[in-house]
Amino acid sequence: MTIHKQHSLADPVTVLSGVGVRLQEKLERIGISVIQDLLFHLPHRYIDRTRLTPIGALRFGHNAYIQGEIELTQVRYGKRRSLLCRISDGTGTIVLRFFYFSKAQEKGLQRGLTIRCYGQVRRGPNSLEIIHPEYRVLSDAQDNELEEQLTPVYSSTEGLQQARLRKLTDQALTTLNNDKTNLTELLPEEILAKQNLPTLIDALDYVHRPPPDADVQSLIDGRHPAQQRLAYEELLAQQLSLLELRNELRAEHSPAFELSTQLIPDYVQALPFTLTNAQTRAYKTIASDLNKTVAMLRLIQGDVGSGKTVVAALAALQAIEAGYQVAIMAPTELLAEQHYNNFLLWLEPLGIDVVFLTGKLKKSIRNDVESRLQEKKPVVAIGTHALFQDSVNFSKLGLIVIDEQHRFGVHQRLALLEKGQQHDKYPHQLIMTATPIPRTLTMTAYADLDHTIIDELPPNRKAVNTSVISNERREDIIKRIKHICAEGRQVYWVCTLIEESETLQCETAIETAEKLAEILTSIRVGLIHGRMKANEKEAIMQDFKDDKISLLVATTVIEVGVDVPNASLMIIDNAERFGLSQLHQLRGRIGRGEIKSDCVLMYQTPLGDLAKQRLEIMRTSSDGFLIAEKDLELRGPGEVLGTRQAGMPEMRVADLMRDAHLLPEIQNTAKTLLAQHPDKVKLLIHRWLGKSLEYSNV
Ligand code: ADP
Ligand code: MG
Repeated sequence: MTIHKQHSLADPVTVLSGVGVRLQEKLERIGISVIQDLLFHLPHRYIDRTRLTPIGALRFGHNAYIQGEIELTQVRYGKRRSLLCRISDGTGTIVLRFFYFSKAQEKGLQRGLTIRCYGQVRRGPNSLEIIHPEYRVLSDAQDNELEEQLTPVYSSTEGLQQARLRKLTDQALTTLNNDKTNLTELLPEEILAKQNLPTLIDALDYVHRPPPDADVQSLIDGRHPAQQRLAYEELLAQQLSLLELRNELRAEHSPAFELSTQLIPDYVQALPFTLTNAQTRAYKTIASDLNKTVAMLRLIQGDVGSGKTVVAALAALQAIEAGYQVAIMAPTELLAEQHYNNFLLWLEPLGIDVVFLTGKLKKSIRNDVESRLQEKKPVVAIGTHALFQDSVNFSKLGLIVIDEQHRFGVHQRLALLEKGQQHDKYPHQLIMTATPIPRTLTMTAYADLDHTIIDELPPNRKAVNTSVISNERREDIIKRIKHICAEGRQVYWVCTLIEESETLQCETAIETAEKLAEILTSIRVGLIHGRMKANEKEAIMQDFKDDKISLLVATTVIEVGVDVPNASLMIIDNAERFGLSQLHQLRGRIGRGEIKSDCVLMYQTPLGDLAKQRLEIMRTSSDGFLIAEKDLELRGPGEVLGTRQAGMPEMRVADLMRDAHLLPEIQNTAKTLLAQHPDKVKLLIHRWLGKSLEYSNV
């Protein structure tokens, strides 16, 4: 008999069998350092290997587990070498496609063998196909038993296999069950009873290892009571941390800036346009915030093109006139540079120092910028997150502006404030986003912020004309591209997210760019996707801006703020697969100049009813808020749309859309806990957000 040493959940993962230094490092990368972290590293989806789907019954877009006999395996040469393997099960055939493969792998897929595989079915050039499926060649007849339970899938990192993670989780669950007092129940009993929620330990067991009789569909949809129990606790922790953050900040002191009497009137006078009413309103609110000794924490939501940058400039001027420094942070180098150019143009004539700081700068220039920030002089510093690296010290930071907030999390926001802290004074903070967030969600996800909406576009904005077209009319669209480019205009071609895998999205973009370049020989075609290095991406965007590229094939990396007014046509391929808000964001890239612009939403036939309705909303509306609300309304259960596009913080189990019904109750519970169980509050926050708080470096 072997005697297992009893571990505690607080022990480092290295006490588990099979965990050496290398594995420990990998686990650390995904936030796992002690055994308990494994328990809270929850499956983000499940694979159903409890049943096989007949190939003849497959539908594209679905994830399926299939089995068939290999009929043919061949390497196809051409622009992109790929290994194709055709399999059949008597009900139909499907092709497995590999872009990356070894000789051994090719040899292993011999004709006549039976293979079982799992993956997302997509439409290939000639038949249905699965790209890079997970697969296993069956060795003999006995090898074909199906699994009895759903297989959990954990988020992972390079070189860390799912099987490994599952083994480790098994050990963590054993540790938990050996001594259940190891993990404290933090939800007060009255709440558990009232909500009819399972205990924490039962929920964790269930979610990590669903029993054979589990309700498969409810688990896959994330609506199982065990998942809801965990989501409840996570949302509660999130809510508590926001409320605490808000309370802390509301108590702190910030410098109060007098209303501007010089710079702002001069600036407004010099602008080539008049402010819209919405801009003026937003600025007035901000001006009065900045005039107080309590830190401003304000989120400005305004549709793409509503002129948020001008509002940011107004806020900056008030801080500058009061003798303070301003930091303006953008999510990418390119956007930072765009802002820098604008601010130079606007503020230099007023005698204001504007500096630029990104990771790309030469050391000597960087040092120079850093030393300028250390002088106690008013200056506007524009840059990427490099603005807040350790070597940068603002001597008198009064205002932080964050553009396109959805790339930054709540806790990064907090970290920024701390960096800007001087003698227990905090800078004011202004956050700008073009992503419309439905009200129900702002109440919770942004509970720490005040809100202002810019609900008006500058006059004479040319509306983008949107059409919805089947991909069977691709040729017409190609003609249109030729025509537009011949007129000296530029075009975006956006490739869709075929599935969650970014790799596949990039493959699609690469293929599309190649095909288009083949057909459109006289047009300069460029390609940009998420797997390119940051500097490669920037170079391509710069070429597009400089009109050295006429047709830019892109994945969704172009989503945020880049301004190329000469681009007047955008084709969005497989538009039915995008979230509406995301489509709206993408479409906002065109219609920025004087010329009439067109957006073509291209879909794959046949188009379902829901998808039809959604595209129709896009065709008929250009109101970001309306679109966001409709998106939420139409999003039926099981409709897979990331919460990320709505700007939500990453969560472990909860999904703000799916679990929205829990929110009102959670808000009440949060208040009860703060009032009656303050001891539990810290523990809950630590349990769910501990890591992200510790590592909240920007
Ligand atoms: P966003 O809100 O998407 O960040 P920008 O601030 O980039 O929008 O503004 C988009 C364009 O509209 C810019 O070229 C800007 O100069 C222009 N603009 C801003 N405000 C006005 C206004 N009141 N009237 C006319 N044009 C404006
Ligand atoms: Mg902007």
